[in-house]
Amino acid sequence: MTKTQPKTYLSNVNRYTRGGKNGKQICCPECREWLRIYHFSWSSLTCINCREDVKKEDWIVEKRV
Ligand SMILES: [Zn+2]
Repeated sequence: MTKTQPKTYLSNVNRYTRGGKNGKQICCPECREWLRIYHFSWSSLTCINCREDVKKEDWIVEKRV
């Protein structure tokens, strides 16, 4: 029996994604830069790196399995 290591995977932001008190890193699908945000009360966000308007569901978050 081997212990399974905690793994993370990348997933899209959905309506259940929450920032939490330390915020959450999200990845821009256009330029692949990460930025930290603290709340998800928006439906689209302009990326501070590439200035692209990215819809909420297109942002990428890291999730734990
Ligand atoms: Zn970007």
